[in-house]
Amino acid sequence: MQRRKTQQFQLGNVAIGGDAPISVQSMTKTDTRDTDATIAQIHKLTETGCEIVRSAVIDEDAAKALAPIKKATSIPLVADIHFDYKLAMIALKAGVDGLRLNPGNIGAQWKVVEVVKAATDSGAPIRIGVNSGSVEKEYQRLYGGPTALAMVESALAHVRVLEDLNFCNIKVSLKATDIERNIEANRLFASKSDIPIHLGITEAGTAWTGSIKSAAGMAVLLAEGIGDTLRVSLTGDPAEEVRVGWQILKSLDLRQRGVTIISCPTCGRLERPIEDLAYRFEQELAHIDHPFHLAVMGCSVNGPGESKGADIGVVAHKSGKMRLYKDGHFWRNAPCDDVVDIVKAQFEKKLSEL
Ligand code: SF4
Repeated sequence: MQRRKTQQFQLGNVAIGGDAPISVQSMTKTDTRDTDATIAQIHKLTETGCEIVRSAVIDEDAAKALAPIKKATSIPLVADIHFDYKLAMIALKAGVDGLRLNPGNIGAQWKVVEVVKAATDSGAPIRIGVNSGSVEKEYQRLYGGPTALAMVESALAHVRVLEDLNFCNIKVSLKATDIERNIEANRLFASKSDIPIHLGITEAGTAWTGSIKSAAGMAVLLAEGIGDTLRVSLTGDPAEEVRVGWQILKSLDLRQRGVTIISCPTCGRLERPIEDLAYRFEQELAHIDHPFHLAVMGCSVNGPGESKGADIGVVAHKSGKMRLYKDGHFWRNAPCDDVVDIVKAQFEKKLSEL
């Protein structure tokens, strides 16, 4: 896929835009003032593959809490701020790597100037975020409601505020709850600007519906080369957002991470059940972040062929045992109960030999 050409900048140790990999983000769901809980959640997100984390800053205590949080964590930390420029100033002083803030919403010009100066001094980029639910009334009046065009014009107006102050480390998100408007807004913005885009379908729903909705919406844009970072917004555990984000990128072959499990849907040829096994592999191999391939197949018709293309293949056999393949060749037979441990040990061995 041909990526859209965008400007590039650093967000902490992560490059955004240009030819940088599309990064996976999430947001903490703890009260930011509860530093222990927030740090623990960021650690869990980091282990899951989160590359950038954002925390809501609702008051001065939350802004001050960012300093110990930043100190205790390793991925770039973004402060999410609405309206209050003072919170942005405290957050930058606390050492955050970036801000999520709409400069047109923080009031007097001198406040914008102060924030931009502090962000420039600390090297922190700013994300402008336009959501369909909060497009300013003036743009709704001009463009017939919170339409894609209203969202884009709102975003561009915020961009101009920053660019007029010579601030260029900007990324933009245009998020709508419906996929059609989301796609239209992002396509339109991409046609007008080379500013990096952060993708997301806002308020997508629970893990089940939200994952499908996010994948459906983002895949269209990603396949067109649009999108430099992404977040899957789910009601629930943020680690799930990260897993789904990665899975979307992996499915489109845009990034690789962790064990990709190819498991057959099973059918009347199934030689012994494999469903539990496939789920167990997902859980037991989740800690391996190297991009291996594992095939879990239900019969000798397609199993050996699929296994030959994988690092390890596990094929059900009518004898009741599983036939295992390694690096494209038959390796050994094993009782079903032992297979997960054998495969896990083998991947860990491969990992240690890299
Ligand atoms: Fe059916 Fe075998 Fe294909 Fe699985 S691999 S779906 S059991 S034919």
